[in-house]
Amino acid sequence: MVQDQEAHAAQMERTFIAIKPDGVQRGLIAEIISRFERKGFKLVAIKILVPSKEFAQKHYHDLKDRPFFYGLCAFLSSGPVVAMVWEGEGVIKYGRKLIGATDPQKSEPGTIRGDLAVVVGRNIIHGSDGPETAKDEINLWFKPQELVSYKSNAEKWIYEGN
Ligand code: UDP
Ligand code: MG
Repeated sequence: MVQDQEAHAAQMERTFIAIKPDGVQRGLIAEIISRFERKGFKLVAIKILVPSKEFAQKHYHDLKDRPFFYGLCAFLSSGPVVAMVWEGEGVIKYGRKLIGATDPQKSEPGTIRGDLAVVVGRNIIHGSDGPETAKDEINLWFKPQELVSYKSNAEKWIYEGN
């Protein structure tokens, strides 16, 4: 029904997810993508790139006064990063749940960091922490034409009313 489709579309969100150089080098790209995909979220943009230090500093600008800022930005620009945009109802908040707590020593088992990482400086994945950051990070990493809007066949089995 049109009304249901509109309600569904209104709840759709997008978030920015990046597999950091440690996740890429450790061969965890497919494992991480698979967790988002199996949940029912939809991949709408993906690319692999080595961000420059300046770009990393833009991405992490909120953390510029923290003692780990320069090390963190140097690390993010030290090798290939897989940058992605995932779409779905509640994907910003639930994406953070799939990822787990920032410090892998505190991440629950079953989360990406809980299962696959050990220390905070090598926690393999980034995810936007709210709607505003999601918008800013998607705009920083992707051009509008790199985002692909499409209807997935699975959607009628993942969501009600379409
Ligand atoms: N980080 C770090 N040391 C710290 C806290 C954070 O190296 O004490 C790194 C870590 O890689 C983290 C990133 O800085 O993922 C960004 O920190 P934030 O607090 O935004 O955590 P996140 O949103 O990634 O969970
Ligand atoms: Mg953060």
